[in-house]
Amino acid sequence: MQAERLSMKENDHFSTRIEPTDSTSKRQRICVACSIRGKDANGKSVYLHKRETRFKCNRCNVGLCQEPCFFLYHTRVELKSAVVEAQQLDV
Ligand SMILES: [Zn+2]
Ligand SMILES: [Zn+2]
Repeated sequence: MQAERLSMKENDHFSTRIEPTDSTSKRQRICVACSIRGKDANGKSVYLHKRETRFKCNRCNVGLCQEPCFFLYHTRVELKSAVVEAQQLDV
C-alpha cells in the first residue's frame, strides 16, 4: 500500500476572512499594503492614513485587502519589508 501524500495547500498564502477569536479581538485589521506609515512630531512611527480590511493572509498573518493588496503584497518586495513595523503598530 502506498502512503498517500497529503496535498493540502498548507504552505500557500491565501486570503482569509478575519474572525475574532474572542469578544475583545478586532474583526478588522489595518491593511499593510495600502495604509501609509510615517513619523509623528516625536519621530514615532504612526499611521498617516489607515485603511481597514476584514481580510488577512493566512500565512503572513497581516491585514490585506482582497484586491489588489493581497496580490501586490506578495509580489512586491518593498511592501513585504514593511511588515515588521506594521505589525508593531497594528495592536
Ligand atoms: Zn502571505
Ligand atoms: Zn489594502
